[in-house]
Amino acid sequence: MGKFTSFRIINKNGTFRFPDAIEQFDTVDETERIELEYAYGPALLPEDSWSGDGMWRYLALLPTSHNILYPLAVGGTPLVAPLQLRQHTGLPGLWLKDETRSPTGSNKDRATALILEHALHHGIHTISCASTGNVALSLALGAAACGLEAVIFVPANVLDTKLHYMQMANATIFKVKGGYEAAVRLSREAARTFGWYDRNTGYNPLTLEAKKTVAFEIWDQLGRLVPDAVVVPVGDGVTLNGIAKGFRELMLCGATTRVPRIIGVQAEHCQPLKGAWEGKTIPLAHSGATIADGIAVSVPINGAMALRDVSESGGGFVAVSDEEILQAITLLAAAGGILAEPAGAAALAGARVALAQGLIQEQETLVVLVTGSGFKTPQYLHPQQYRPIYEVSADIDEVKRVRLKHI
Ligand SMILES: *Cc1c(COP(=O)(O)O)cnc(C)c1O
Repeated sequence: MGKFTSFRIINKNGTFRFPDAIEQFDTVDETERIELEYAYGPALLPEDSWSGDGMWRYLALLPTSHNILYPLAVGGTPLVAPLQLRQHTGLPGLWLKDETRSPTGSNKDRATALILEHALHHGIHTISCASTGNVALSLALGAAACGLEAVIFVPANVLDTKLHYMQMANATIFKVKGGYEAAVRLSREAARTFGWYDRNTGYNPLTLEAKKTVAFEIWDQLGRLVPDAVVVPVGDGVTLNGIAKGFRELMLCGATTRVPRIIGVQAEHCQPLKGAWEGKTIPLAHSGATIADGIAVSVPINGAMALRDVSESGGGFVAVSDEEILQAITLLAAAGGILAEPAGAAALAGARVALAQGLIQEQETLVVLVTGSGFKTPQYLHPQQYRPIYEVSADIDEVKRVRLKHI
């Protein structure tokens, strides 16, 4: 255990502090939230400059021991200064946090790593989760690498590519009739009934702990500065909560005196939190309401916390259409050099909307999270929008003819 001191269980009766006993996670039910706290101070932050240790660089602020067993390299993803994209978007202070560079191509790998690390140290063999796709894919491959058993509950409309990758990792997969919410309910009940370790995001506090390392990395990579704003895609809200907690902890450690504004991005046809932010009740979205499966969550598990975090940061919410997401995928590829899946490109689409709405200013330092890789979602590439492919025989004259016309 690092310098982890206590955790709070927040439920309808108030806030309770518990001693250092991580096993007590099992006592928490749906109505409760846990937040870990540490003996905050500058000593908890690494002194040396940016290293290749990935997310374990921030071990003193993670609830795990120094003896890391998890075999895959997680975290330490690039913070890209996108030369061309900055010009295209008119945002000279734009940075991309490229979370596509993770073992299974999404930010879910951070949470999986910390949870499986915990499982390996505590003799836990079977870990279960519900997922729109990326959590399951991450758990399936991570568990395979550790020799652990992954039991996965996915909605019926899960993407085939993601499903096949999970199968290749030999996970036990339940395809649940109904949407993601039905899969979450069933997986919670199954974990309780069969004594499996529940990885479900929002219920397991380790997911938040792992995801906060993104904030630490952004601060580190910007030369120990916090940006003006961070743009984050929001499904269950844990990615956003993690970012917020990370920057809060940097402040508690004395590393910064302010936190960035957090802009949450939702999908046009699945925007419960943007709706709540504006005081509207949004009808429940059906599964498949957006191509961005990673943020297709109509009842966000950490919704209340996400609203609180955005409000405390002075940020806001925006919604983007599938069309805007597809344009952002194209823009990220053509001007950013990064291939993203729909939920992974949603924050860039959201940044453009936020700029148009005045939620961010042109000259600000802005970090956009690119949370998931396009290698998993080839169906959302639209090559017809790009240049034609020139079919030639192996003859230089044919290349010359094309060159004279087009290059
Ligand atoms: C899960 C996911 C998100 C949203 O994260 P939450 O923690 O559920 O809000 C965004 N993008 C991608 C690619 C994801 O897989």
